[in-house]
Amino acid sequence: MSSCLFCEIVKGNLNADLIYEDDRIVAFKDINPQAPFHALVIPKDHIPTLNELDVEHAELIGRMLIVAKDLAVDAGYGQRGYRTIFNCNSEAGQAVYHIHLHVLAGRILGWPPG
Ligand code: 5GP
Ligand code: ZN
Repeated sequence: MSSCLFCEIVKGNLNADLIYEDDRIVAFKDINPQAPFHALVIPKDHIPTLNELDVEHAELIGRMLIVAKDLAVDAGYGQRGYRTIFNCNSEAGQAVYHIHLHVLAGRILGWPPG
């Protein structure tokens, strides 16, 4: 068994509330939502942090952002607004070392973030 939680979700070994899947990307509801709508968009490939990204990942990251937008819009938050966030490493609060794009909506999101 892999030690990466999100790889286990990709492989179907760990339950998650999946809301999107294609050949390279999976999205699911966050287990500890920080807003009425809180989804995570992840690549199926294991990439630990944003620091590992290279130009070869450009299409993947673009697709992830489009998935995030589609999820937020389909859930009815296109006009009200939503936030997309990648946390990178400890000072940004990254807890799971498999990159994931947070999609948050459904309440007023303060700025700057804590
Ligand atoms: P980070 O702090 O790394 O940016 O975000 C990790 C996110 O993953 C957190 O919002 C946390 O609630 C979520 N998370 C951690 N473990 C699980 C899990 O097993 N299932 C789901 N659905 N979300 C998880
Ligand atoms: Zn992983």
